[in-house]
Amino acid sequence: MSQFHKYVFIRGAKKRNPLIFKHFKDLKESEIWSKEELLKLNEQRLRDLCVFSFNNSPFYKKRFLEVGFDPEKDWSLEGFKKIPFTTKADLISRNEEIHTPSHFFRKRFYVETSGTSGQILTFHRDESWDSFNRASIWRGYSWFGANPWDKKLYFWGYNTAKLKRAKLRLMDFLVNRFRLFDFEPKKLQKLIPKLSQVKIIEGYSSMIYELANVLDGKGVKFPNLCMVKGTSEKIFPHYQEIAQKIYGMRIVSEYGSTESGIIAFECPDGNMHINLEGVFVEKDPEDGGIIVTNLQSYSFPSIRYKLGDQIELADPDFECSCGMKHPVLKEVTGRIGKNIQGSDRNYPSLTLYYIFKNIYFNQDRKIDFQAHQYEKGKLQIWLKEPVTKELRNMILNESNNYFSDISLELLENHDFRQQAGKLRDFVSHIE
Ligand SMILES: [Zn+2]
Repeated sequence: MSQFHKYVFIRGAKKRNPLIFKHFKDLKESEIWSKEELLKLNEQRLRDLCVFSFNNSPFYKKRFLEVGFDPEKDWSLEGFKKIPFTTKADLISRNEEIHTPSHFFRKRFYVETSGTSGQILTFHRDESWDSFNRASIWRGYSWFGANPWDKKLYFWGYNTAKLKRAKLRLMDFLVNRFRLFDFEPKKLQKLIPKLSQVKIIEGYSSMIYELANVLDGKGVKFPNLCMVKGTSEKIFPHYQEIAQKIYGMRIVSEYGSTESGIIAFECPDGNMHINLEGVFVEKDPEDGGIIVTNLQSYSFPSIRYKLGDQIELADPDFECSCGMKHPVLKEVTGRIGKNIQGSDRNYPSLTLYYIFKNIYFNQDRKIDFQAHQYEKGKLQIWLKEPVTKELRNMILNESNNYFSDISLELLENHDFRQQAGKLRDFVSHIE
């Protein structure tokens, strides 16, 4: 069966993404390069993209000229770093001027994406860029002995309309994937025999975690599993604990976005390596935010793009035991601008992550929570279990180490809310 799916994959890719094979081959070659070679390639690609954008994107031409940066005649990283940031609002409101002419590309794909703030962004992604993205994921798979045509279990949003589901099922069959929309016991029971064939599990980490909980004690085995990949959401320490128990391995993370591509992928030794062949990454010293330039995005460049996540980078001299020299992204710590508001001061939403992480490590207590703020100085914490006196004291004691002017309300509520399909640990309802 695997041969059949490999054949379908290769035939489909040749038609839809012919450059995927070249990109994959190149990525496998450069993954063993020295840091100097990688950084050289990284800067060369950055320069090429800037020259192309300068000549073909009216938006960037103007942006560059405003700060006196001419990438063609006078290239330097210092000059590059004078370019103002590009924001999501720019990508939406200046959409047409940012796009480069379509005649440069053999083929373009129409892409639509909505952020957590609800704005819709649409753009054209050229074939090489699309293929590079897929090749980057393929390379990540290869580190775990998996292939894109292997049997996958795929999690995505819960609420999908019926017609859409039918279409997705057909597509899923072609790419050897089946997907789980919900955890209804009957459907799940039917699924169990299929699970033993799965080689890859991927999707939102909260759903991977939930499935592990549902399967706990049912004696389900995963003899063929190579990797469990979580995207888009924070992976809590207690997610990893049950993942080890049920899947026999940790959840690895892939970090990226529709407009920026694959930014980092975790290796088998547990470090997220920056995809240096595909992105130029900087960190904004002002707010710790990531600034990404997608080096493949020729049809719709996003240069010095503020993605909105706060990050922590590993020391530049840090070397991962896996041998790859790509720099390491230590952690995606949170979203910029989503603060918890006390009556007198603000707290980063990451504070919650530390509070519950401490409780997990110090008290060995796993708590599923989601915090909601409707009013300054007050915070509702929703819990998936009854709020006992013991639990209340535990949370309040730990919170007191961080919050000085916030009153907490603890509620049992199983109905966690999602934003753009993602589960967030903190949702602010204050405008
Ligand atoms: Zn590594």
